[in-house]
Amino acid sequence: MFSQFDLHERLLKALAELSFQQPTEVQAAAIPPAIEGKDLYVIAQTGSGKTAAFVLPMLQRLLADESKPLAPRALILVPTRELARQVSKDFAALARFTFIKAEQVTGGEDFRVQAARLRKNPDIVVATPGRALEQLTAGNLDLGSVQTLVLDEADRMLDMGFAEDVGKLADACPGERQTMLFSATKGNRGLQRMIDSVLSEPQILEL
Ligand code: AMP
Repeated sequence: MFSQFDLHERLLKALAELSFQQPTEVQAAAIPPAIEGKDLYVIAQTGSGKTAAFVLPMLQRLLADESKPLAPRALILVPTRELARQVSKDFAALARFTFIKAEQVTGGEDFRVQAARLRKNPDIVVATPGRALEQLTAGNLDLGSVQTLVLDEADRMLDMGFAEDVGKLADACPGERQTMLFSATKGNRGLQRMIDSVLSEPQILEL
């Protein structure tokens, strides 16, 4: 039951509407430490319910946070535009009874239209690394208020050559933050390097 977690009633209501009754294995393992603000390194497959495993704790922490910075409080990096779209959709479904809004920043979209949308002060940005870095460099994306950084499908981001961009984006976020890294595979050296540089004493969950 999702009510076993310390989740806001607005989130429990969204879960009920979505007919999510039981947490999946990755959700059961990741949600409690993520709500506590721990860094996580999660090895889990697509289809395991990993999106809600990071979106629910992120929403819970944002709902509990009264600060209203004029910059995003969370950044979700994903390898592709398609995944950004999917994560944004899942996010909107889970956030439907809150006022928390996400904006997409991906390649292939008009740069200036995107910059204008960023000026509307979204709470969360879901982005592909290349375009996020371009918007950061252009001064349109302020990562100085990011409290939670998610690297989704980190192994695919590495395969696509995004290691350096991800590192620069992580460096632009405050050092005092929560970082959650998800990967379907483990053990490769590039991934280990990323884990060592962006995560701080992570809890490792292998599902
Ligand atoms: P994901 O691995 O995050 O891409 O999720 C895979 C699919 O499972 C998505 O369609 C979700 O909407 C769905 N899903 C995630 N968590 C649950 C749950 N606890 N109960 C039922 N469906 C879920």
